Amino acid sequence: MGKNCRFYVDIMAMHEEVTGSCNLVIVKKPDGETVRFVIDCGLFQEVEYDELNSVLPFNADNVDFCLVTHVHVDHIGRLPYMVKSGFYKPIYATETICKLLPLALNDSFKVLSSVSKRKNVKCLYSEEDVTRTLELLEPCKYDETIQVHENIKVTFLNNGHLIGASLILVQISYPGYEDINLLFTGDYNNKNIFFDVNPIPQWILDLPLTVIQESTYGDMNSNEITKCFQDNIKKCLNNGGTVVALVFSLGRAQEILYELRTMQKNGELDLQIPIYFDGKLAIRYTDLYIKDGLDVKDEMREFLPENLTFVDKLTRSAVLADTNKKVILTTSGMGTYGPAQTYIPEYIARKNALIQFTGYTAEGTLGSRLKGTEFGEVVEVGGLIAKKIANVEYTTEYSAHAKADEMIEFLKQFNNLKLVLVNHGKIKTKNIFAERILKEVDTKRVGLLGREYFFRVDPYGLVKTLSTKFE
Ligand SMILES: [Zn+2]
Ligand SMILES: [Zn+2]
Repeated sequence: MGKNCRFYVDIMAMHEEVTGSCNLVIVKKPDGETVRFVIDCGLFQEVEYDELNSVLPFNADNVDFCLVTHVHVDHIGRLPYMVKSGFYKPIYATETICKLLPLALNDSFKVLSSVSKRKNVKCLYSEEDVTRTLELLEPCKYDETIQVHENIKVTFLNNGHLIGASLILVQISYPGYEDINLLFTGDYNNKNIFFDVNPIPQWILDLPLTVIQESTYGDMNSNEITKCFQDNIKKCLNNGGTVVALVFSLGRAQEILYELRTMQKNGELDLQIPIYFDGKLAIRYTDLYIKDGLDVKDEMREFLPENLTFVDKLTRSAVLADTNKKVILTTSGMGTYGPAQTYIPEYIARKNALIQFTGYTAEGTLGSRLKGTEFGEVVEVGGLIAKKIANVEYTTEYSAHAKADEMIEFLKQFNNLKLVLVNHGKIKTKNIFAERILKEVDTKRVGLLGREYFFRVDPYGLVKTLSTKFE
């Protein structure tokens, strides 16, 4: 049937690189009906794409449903904007995401509204838009296939990237035609210390499939990762300094707490050294991990280190006044928002202090800017001008993303790959990873999903690539 098949889907990306995740799929049925759905609708964090935050290059009011892969702000931060723009249909997500999303969206709203106040511009959406978004949520169980439309079934599979995260399988069918099967990786990891990542069921491995594959670390293999966090911490404390570790509120914060606990248990971290944990959202998420359990496995339920103090606005000054050696865990992970705005300016100019980033730092964020700053250079941090004297370190050892070799192994499992569309990576990285897939994975085609092209797929695979401009 190939070229003349009247049953096909168009797959598009609204984002170009790592942040602002949003994919739109338009299904064309032989009976003439069109179905549209969106996978994630996140905020752009790369400064270069900031202006795109207020642009939705599709009509939100004719989107039939939305699927959410996980609760990182670059995947969910614009859901309320989509609702504000006219979207009113169901948003399907795992049960855990539905529990986390109220916290995530309310926090994202607070950050957005304070930034827009500072810039004297209108906020992207209101608190009411957040409430309306949450009302659209449809909680789903892992591994259960649900019918979301007459011709469309969806299955959420667990994914090590983050608690509640999923790989989403979308099966589109029409009588008389083979199914069109799409698998969205969202952000992917093959492991997680808090829960087990189940293997992909055989029936999915055997499907003729188009995989929409992330590529954040598509140019790096897992054996290139050096572990330095523990050594950096020990070195700093041995010199009598203060550690400021930047963590993401969800996942990374809890993982670093567990890491510190492990260090204490192994005698690598003196129990007398106080650990301060500052970040309202991070503390609330930690509370959820402990009280609700989310999907955390039993043996990981206790992850808090000894000598831990939760810090808030009122007690922060006491932490800053404490001149003894100590560890401060704080948000935001990229250093641009939250209490990091207080701690980084305070400690960046101090000898013996360590500013330790523990995750990805997007272009233009404070974490990324500090990377290119020399010792003694003057930097602008949180509205202050300071000399960079402290040691600023980065590690990818806790990364929540699979590395290139692990993603290749993931893709190799599938027995009938029609097409792999690479998204969610820097442009250069997407290219490197796409070439590698072509060499190492048994797939007919590989495409680069970005804002410039969309891909038309029918039950037999790729039909064509069309250049598009959303402007
Ligand atoms: Zn993510
Ligand atoms: Zn992401």
